[in-house]
Amino acid sequence: MIKIDYQTLAEESVKNIALSGHKPTILMHVCCGPCTTSPILFLSKYFKVTLIFNNSNIYPKAEHDRRLLELERFLNQAESLIGEKIDVLKVPYDNEEYTKKYLSSYKNEPEGGARCRQCFRARMDQAYALASAQNFDYFVTVMTISRQKNSQILNKIGEELSKKYPNTKYFFSDFKKHGGQEKRNEMVKEFNLYAQDYCGCIYSLTARDERQKKQKASN
Ligand code: SF4
Repeated sequence: MIKIDYQTLAEESVKNIALSGHKPTILMHVCCGPCTTSPILFLSKYFKVTLIFNNSNIYPKAEHDRRLLELERFLNQAESLIGEKIDVLKVPYDNEEYTKKYLSSYKNEPEGGARCRQCFRARMDQAYALASAQNFDYFVTVMTISRQKNSQILNKIGEELSKKYPNTKYFFSDFKKHGGQEKRNEMVKEFNLYAQDYCGCIYSLTARDERQKKQKASN
């Protein structure tokens, strides 16, 4: 598969947007505070940004709520850095239904496999539908900042969804590239953000626990 340099595409897009002299609206799907850091700094220069937190994949609920609270704390504390107050649309949490509908048939898949592709598509589709219904100019997901998530797959899903919701453009990205990952790490330290050690679903939590057990046993 030929790899596309999506962050160069992102930089070309924002150059054209800057030349237009107009700030379009963008709905940005976010999963946690740490992953929102450098992408929101990058995007808020060119867009009027609204966030959407729709992450019923996260288990248990206490962890979901902790990630959301940490995101809100970051947005409050970084308001002057970002340059404006950012609104967050919150979609009701339903992990039981989400796991049954999208994940349980793939419970034995390793992280990065078919289960994750389902999970990316489900959350991006739900958020993109909302972006389209509310007439946002663009939709983007922050998940491309993660080194554990394949940006080629995420952007292909975004491209496919853009055909389903043609009134809202998909913003291609690979936020970890071109210094994005380093900036993210720097900001996580600066704002002392809680950085979780598993992706989110019950299966990734179990895998994390097993890794920790093996590590303890080998020490
Ligand atoms: S590991 Fe992460 S992306 Fe994959 S299914 Fe679980 S929550 Fe979703």
